[in-house]
Amino acid sequence: MIHVDQTYIDGRFLPATGEEEVDIVNPADETVIGRARMASREDARRAIEAAVRAQPDFGRTAVADRVAMLERLQVAMLANADALRESSILEYGGPVARSQWVASYASQCFGDAARTLSSYVFERPVGVDGVSILQMRPVGVSGLFAPWNAAAGTIASKLAAAIAAGCATVIKPSELSPWQALVITRAIHDAALPPGVVNVVTGRGADVGAEIGTHPGVAKLSFTGSTPTGQLIARAAVESMKRVSLALTGKSASLLLDDADLRVAVPLALGAAFMNSGQACVAGTRLLVPRARLAEVVEQVRTAVATMRVGDPRDPATAIGPMVSRTQFERIQRYIRRGQEQGATLVVGGEGRPEGLARGWFVRPTVFTDVRNDMDIAREEIFGPVLSILPVDSEEQAIAIANDSPYGLQGYVFSADEARARRVAGRIETGTVLVNRVAPDLLAPFGGVKLSGQGREFGVMGLEAFLEPRTITIG
Ligand code: NAD
Repeated sequence: MIHVDQTYIDGRFLPATGEEEVDIVNPADETVIGRARMASREDARRAIEAAVRAQPDFGRTAVADRVAMLERLQVAMLANADALRESSILEYGGPVARSQWVASYASQCFGDAARTLSSYVFERPVGVDGVSILQMRPVGVSGLFAPWNAAAGTIASKLAAAIAAGCATVIKPSELSPWQALVITRAIHDAALPPGVVNVVTGRGADVGAEIGTHPGVAKLSFTGSTPTGQLIARAAVESMKRVSLALTGKSASLLLDDADLRVAVPLALGAAFMNSGQACVAGTRLLVPRARLAEVVEQVRTAVATMRVGDPRDPATAIGPMVSRTQFERIQRYIRRGQEQGATLVVGGEGRPEGLARGWFVRPTVFTDVRNDMDIAREEIFGPVLSILPVDSEEQAIAIANDSPYGLQGYVFSADEARARRVAGRIETGTVLVNRVAPDLLAPFGGVKLSGQGREFGVMGLEAFLEPRTITIG
């Protein structure tokens, strides 16, 4: 049994003092594999106070010192890669390849931030004839909120940018990923940062999260999670004018243009739709296909998805692991039902568990075609392996449908003509558009428009999200 009952405050592991204990359940077989005690509001306060004490000195550290800290974090993450992989497989149900990737991604975040920091100019002349100087200063103590579907990756990417900027942090992982959070905290501890620069309190959003979100000692909130929670956080934050970055819900469209080579484009589109077992904010879950190529695409998709391996996340052949919890499993079942009720055509998959998997929160990878963009399965984030194919009659209509969404996180364009794909990408209303690829550029800005959020992470903009400008104008 795994026991998670600690917070990390002021450089030390201390007992969590919340009253609630939650089960850690292996989603692949529904067995209880551990217990986690939640942190309390008081723990959150202590963590914030530690960060407030650490901030003045940390904010004045030399760039070279922070680069060295980031490099130590990069090494520590790699050294803990096996533990990170294990916790991701057992607590989250992440397929082994994905879980392995998460560990190297977490490490890479710190290396990338060190690179960005090394060349960043914190002070520069601005204004009329250079009479003003712009100084970019750490914004201050930062609250970092992570969702359950990308626990280690989100913590690492946010922490890397905050450390680069010189901000002490209080991290609030999801109550659904306490073990992964503990493993990553141990790695952070191994990097021997000054006490109080990183604090971790895993607890409920309603108390621990709300404390961080409203405490006057916290200057900045960097939140990744669902749109409703992000809205709640932003509303509360405005009272003390905290700076807020929000990375929220998505409902991304993949535009398959009529010139695309289907042997290349369809596997990419499926990779976009089913990544992270479909539990991905950037999943390309609306595939827009020219009507003339619909039959071909549907056939290729049917064959590929029917043979997609669902099951034991430890098996390297597994493409889709279990959903994280019963709640997620049931939510996805409801959407599959609703898709059929609202008139979409089921291509492959459907309700219920895959054959031979009686236990575990496994769902059948499901594809619908003849989906209209006003159906729930096209408008709402399902957060599971469910793909909607929408036939379109022109490139213009594809762009209009892609943009007809309350969300705007990421888009995908697949085409044999790069110039054309770029033109189309330039008309997609999302924070990022990937052309003929599904892997992100981790040194380029990432974030959403519309209800998918505000602000950008990664690269220079990600660093600047933790900086506050000060202008000094000389008379
Ligand atoms: P969630 O909004 O339920 O929770 C996110 C975090 O907020 C958790 O740590 C949670 O405990 C905390 N929280 C909840 N209520 C709070 C409150 N009142 N005050 C402060 N904190 C509170 O999201 P989730 O279910 O964990 O994650 C899935 C969602 O996250 C999906 O919608 C997905 O699209 C989104 N997501 C977005 C991105 C992105 O980069 N845009 C990345 C991953 C996930």
